[in-house]
Amino acid sequence: MLDAEKIYIEPMKDLIIFTDLDGSLLDAESYTASPADTLFELLDSHGIPVIFNSSKTLQEMIKIRRLMGNNQPFVVENGSAVYVPLDHEIAATAGLESVHGYRRYVLGQERQQFQSFLRSMQAEFRFRPLTEMSEAEFIGVTGLTRADVPMAQTREFSEPLLWHDSEDALNTLATKTVAAGFHLVLGGRFVHLMGSTDKSLAQRWLLNRMRLIHGKDFKVMALGDSENDAQMLADADYPVLIRSDKHGFPEIKTKASIYRTTHTGPIGWHEAVRRIFL
Ligand SMILES: [Mg+2]
Repeated sequence: MLDAEKIYIEPMKDLIIFTDLDGSLLDAESYTASPADTLFELLDSHGIPVIFNSSKTLQEMIKIRRLMGNNQPFVVENGSAVYVPLDHEIAATAGLESVHGYRRYVLGQERQQFQSFLRSMQAEFRFRPLTEMSEAEFIGVTGLTRADVPMAQTREFSEPLLWHDSEDALNTLATKTVAAGFHLVLGGRFVHLMGSTDKSLAQRWLLNRMRLIHGKDFKVMALGDSENDAQMLADADYPVLIRSDKHGFPEIKTKASIYRTTHTGPIGWHEAVRRIFL
């Protein structure tokens, strides 16, 4: 009884937060983080890292981290690679490469490896690769600003596709993708063609590094809104589904109790972290 109370009073020690960005920490339309960002200082003061785990590119991540004052490692392009700041405690981990001023662990595959597969699929299915869009087209689809377009189009490991074909056709493409040794991931806005990885594998890798270096069994809170967050949430101790006004909640296969937010985007993020953490 006493122990249970004690655990209840200090539940959130040794916690790591992994979060999706678009539609979760960031509003799906305006890309702002308010009011979720008002919790960063509090989390920081408790030593709780907030790790960004998103379909975004390295350049987009660098910008967002700077805006939010986040100095943690981060996961790009749906689990394709983990970037670790040089001064971070896990930066000396064996097997990391030095690139773009960071230490990097790659889980996915370089884009060049699936270019010919992408070409052959373009002849069979109706979709538009994001990197082939003109600036105007890209802005029309994403609502990003002009300055953000090159950052989003400079991709290392994945190709987001704007799907114009049927759901059946999408299932057929998914099968062909796996047969070719790649992977298709459903995001909030795009279908992502990429190597055989996902956000949960990157989360697991980072978590294991943190556990090893601290000798602690960190607990994980993971927040996301879409299908590409499902496994990341399934692996978490505190899975949080952020409500979307574009689609229903994805299915999460977990024994942990799932917190489904009342509010969408960063308001839902704020709601869940406050509720669970405080
Ligand atoms: Mg999302």
